[in-house]
Amino acid sequence: MNIILLGPPGAGKGTQARLLVEKHGFVQLSTGDMLRAARTSGTEMGKQVAAVMDRGDLVTDEIVIGLIAEQLDTGAGAKGVIFDGFPRTLAQADALSELLTGRGARLDAVVEMRVDDEAVIRRISGRFTCDRCGEVYHDDTKRPADPEACDKCGENKFKRRADDNADSVRTRLLAYYRETSPLIGYYYAKGQLRSVDGMGEIDAVHTAIESALRP
Ligand code: AMP
Repeated sequence: MNIILLGPPGAGKGTQARLLVEKHGFVQLSTGDMLRAARTSGTEMGKQVAAVMDRGDLVTDEIVIGLIAEQLDTGAGAKGVIFDGFPRTLAQADALSELLTGRGARLDAVVEMRVDDEAVIRRISGRFTCDRCGEVYHDDTKRPADPEACDKCGENKFKRRADDNADSVRTRLLAYYRETSPLIGYYYAKGQLRSVDGMGEIDAVHTAIESALRP
């Protein structure tokens, strides 16, 4: 099954993608994670996108489409792919459709996660992740049981994203409304959109996504 998780920054796409990966063995393709990895490893592309990402603007379609094409070519997504943070523009949506068709695959569903803007800002502001396994935590709502160790893998190092600050969050939200939210209408018109309430507890949202994915 190939699925897009669609929603503003902080909607919980990454968290829900990880749950779907654990349960179904899908592969999570997050362009945000790929871009951050490129920055960490210091590639030319990583250097090129750093300032854009920190500001909260979108990097070029060409770069992210290239990253997704590369991943699809590795064949890693044989059991299914969760696209997390991609596509974010209509051009990316069209490119994805072509990439899948060209590989004899298709998009099965687009799940829109509905959240309110204030909640998004609150969620992003307190967010941190495990440095090793990427488990997502929050200062107010989900702290590790032992503050010195990740619940999942025991790692004692956590990190916060450089773009999880008030200015970047506003810019990211603006980019979402300007560039990405038209995809809701686009996929609705194609009969592929399913919307879930993204405001509940993590498990409740997961259950809602599972039922939205049932035929
Ligand atoms: P994310 O981890 O999905 O919140 O993405 C972090 C940042 O990476 C975004 O604010 C953008 O600067 C960049 N980015 C990630 N995915 C895309 C995409 N599909 N198109 C353009 N920029 C992206």
